Amino acid sequence: MNVSNALALALALCSWAGPATAQPRFDFDQTPGLLSKHVRPSHYALQLVLDPDAERFSGEVTIAVTVRQPVPHIVLHAHQLTARSTMLLGGDGERALTVTADDKAQTWQLRPTDGQPIAAGTHRLRLAYDGRVQRSGAGLFGAPHQALGQPARLLATQLEAVYARRVFPAFDEPAFRSVFELAVRAPKGYEVLSNMPPASAVDEGAQVLHRFVPTPSMPSYLVAVAVGRFDALSGQAAGVPLRILTVPGKRDRAAYALKTTEQLLPYYNDYFGVPYALPKLDQLAVPSGRDGAMEDWGLISYSEGTLLFDPATGSVRQRRTIFNIVAHEVAHQWFGNLVTAASWDEIWLNEAFATWMARKATDHFNPDWQGPLRQRSYVDGAMERDSGPATRAIRSGSVPENRVFEVFDDITYTKGGAVLSMLEQWIGPAKFRAGLGAYMRARRFSNATAGDLWFHIGQASGRDVAAVAASWTDQRGFPLIHLASRCVDGATRIELSQQRFSMTGAADGSRWQVPLVIRHGERTETLLLKGAQQTITLPGCPTLPPLLNPGGEGFYRVAYAPAQHAVLAQAFDRLPPSARITLLSDTFALAQAGQTTMAAYLDLLAALPRVQGADKSAAWSGTRSTLGFLDGALIGTPARAPLHAAARALLAPQLAALGWTPPSGEDSETEALRGNLIVELARFGDAATVARAQALFDADEAGRTPLPAALRASVIRAVARHADPVRFKQLVARLKTSPHDDDRWLYATSLAQVEDADLARQVLALSLDGRLPPNIASRLPGMVADNPAHGELAYGFTVEHWTALADLAGTMYGARSWLLPGAAGGFNRPEDAQRLLRDQQRLLGETGAANAQRIAAQIALLAAVQAREAERLRAPLQSLAARLQRQP
Ligand SMILES: [Zn+2]
Repeated sequence: MNVSNALALALALCSWAGPATAQPRFDFDQTPGLLSKHVRPSHYALQLVLDPDAERFSGEVTIAVTVRQPVPHIVLHAHQLTARSTMLLGGDGERALTVTADDKAQTWQLRPTDGQPIAAGTHRLRLAYDGRVQRSGAGLFGAPHQALGQPARLLATQLEAVYARRVFPAFDEPAFRSVFELAVRAPKGYEVLSNMPPASAVDEGAQVLHRFVPTPSMPSYLVAVAVGRFDALSGQAAGVPLRILTVPGKRDRAAYALKTTEQLLPYYNDYFGVPYALPKLDQLAVPSGRDGAMEDWGLISYSEGTLLFDPATGSVRQRRTIFNIVAHEVAHQWFGNLVTAASWDEIWLNEAFATWMARKATDHFNPDWQGPLRQRSYVDGAMERDSGPATRAIRSGSVPENRVFEVFDDITYTKGGAVLSMLEQWIGPAKFRAGLGAYMRARRFSNATAGDLWFHIGQASGRDVAAVAASWTDQRGFPLIHLASRCVDGATRIELSQQRFSMTGAADGSRWQVPLVIRHGERTETLLLKGAQQTITLPGCPTLPPLLNPGGEGFYRVAYAPAQHAVLAQAFDRLPPSARITLLSDTFALAQAGQTTMAAYLDLLAALPRVQGADKSAAWSGTRSTLGFLDGALIGTPARAPLHAAARALLAPQLAALGWTPPSGEDSETEALRGNLIVELARFGDAATVARAQALFDADEAGRTPLPAALRASVIRAVARHADPVRFKQLVARLKTSPHDDDRWLYATSLAQVEDADLARQVLALSLDGRLPPNIASRLPGMVADNPAHGELAYGFTVEHWTALADLAGTMYGARSWLLPGAAGGFNRPEDAQRLLRDQQRLLGETGAANAQRIAAQIALLAAVQAREAERLRAPLQSLAARLQRQP
């Protein structure tokens, strides 16, 4: 009963923009935004005075604007800047301007002091100002680090989405493209980087004035500057000079990123038929102060751990992450930079496409990573959210600037990318590519909307792509397809129907135009399901029932009629690999939703040890999230011990078969599988696995035998989870002294999982002791909450120390609004979902509502599964463990 209360509340608070909206083509005047379209910038001459050791900076910008009709004043964005002088230059000479700052809107209103309007025509705004250096990546920020053992600091920028206004006054919306001509005055001895190559460097004594070649026309959020001392690893691809830049002493870690970029650039040039547009491509590894990566044109920046790789210590998982992130950011040089989303409402045109393209490139260059088989487990989380109450459409309407990070989410990236894959499969890769090439050529150095994209892909394919696409981009959720089949006179009659897949059973009349793929014997059929139901007949009656979505590319779930499901479960180890993974994923989701039992999912798991195909590693890695979900749902119930026993019985023989010593030349899938098994067996308390990991760690700690790269991360996670005070202290020392971002994250996330409650309290205390970078420190409570045993501890700590943690988190990527929802990740009681919604409202108001609703929906789902399964799952879990122990 409390469950449905929490869900009703989450639903009531959910802000959905409404039914599908039209998808018009790009029109500057019609593009949504805060600023008036009567004043349009075309050129910024921006000069910054930057010193890595200073906490403030100064700037002067001259913006050429076209005033399209007389206006009393000009409004542009500026935030946390102090004006020193403000002038309007035009045909009628210099006019002083008064500045009225609006802190809420983050704007300056500039009004001539003479009281006269500003005439139509071209003018220049000359604005001198001071600004502040940020502590984390929201604007111009300082990144403290160790350079060859000495403390140092560099300056870097992160201006997306709405932070250019913290560095210079700007028309800070994506549709206001302009040329940026940068100059930076910096102390002698520092290198200065920007989007474009240097044009000149003038020695001024203690300082040097660095001027850069003007950029092409681009939005303000893509401007990038960095000042520091750097090592560079240089290369080139397709005639473009490439550099990977690191802080001094880390160039050796740049080789993998350089090689990756050398593969990607020619591949993208060829795919789009439009070459990379700038004269160079630099990629900078920022040692602290930022998360993730940013695609700034010609100067992409990354957190160190997402760009740099040490073959001596790095795992295959890290290599995959780096390849994928570099592929994503380089793809943005086309999707986002060359052609920019018209407004934040259309940000999926940047992000879904970069996600989709990165996947294509990653699979192309690394077929041994089995990307297609891993795709479903990558998408499962977004599907879970999208089948609950706290979701939104990919194009969900107007995006307020103070909540812009809400649309940089799994719906935009993951669902958006997956929907593109599905549409590409439906249209055919060649026509899809032809349409994208035409779109790129037509819209380059400009902006675009969904209407532009579907126009060009529709032209290339001769299909009504827009209508099919809109049913996926403009409404929430996705369908569940019911399939029932029977043999009639030697042919198979297949009945298909669709309804929204809902975790809560909420009624919903939504319909999709679903591109379906059906495997029937040796044949593969495609069709577009438009209505609520459809019946088709295919020749022959093969032994296996028809498989729907066998390749797993469709963003929908499938419910087979019981008779067909039983046949498929029986034949599980003979199904095509991707069909096995899709069946596991769909069966688990149906059980979460109460449309089948978790026991049905356990029956499929019992067959997993017999699977020896290409999907072996991917299928087992999927159990990580399903068993983890069940662990969170069943904590505090008598079913949890049988769950742990069953998980150990399932996983331990797999690890025993692989062994702990990787043979030389082992494939990356096997390496990944071994790593996962070690971590999961430690999670489920397998004493032998923990003891083996501890012995390896102790030998490494004593300096006897370094941990091999293939095992290192998994062993550290296993040891940290079961740490005693001695090993805990050793791991904390490593966390505090490691000079590398990837290692700091590894130690922090591992230590946060510690089972011992007193040690978990010590992990929480680390967040406030000032020794860790603020982004890691502020996330520690959320990491601790990932162990559901410490949910209350992590949440209570976050509420108690809210002010300090919020200060550490800052605003980059909406980090502050994730603090409480992250710390509530260990809850599974409806009353805790309500508590989260109340606390978030009290501490953050409207700006935090969406993130709290998302986690409240997850808590409600865990509670619902607990209510249904805690009693009835005990016996099936015990019998699964018994069955597995009997197997040889
Ligand atoms: Zn991106």
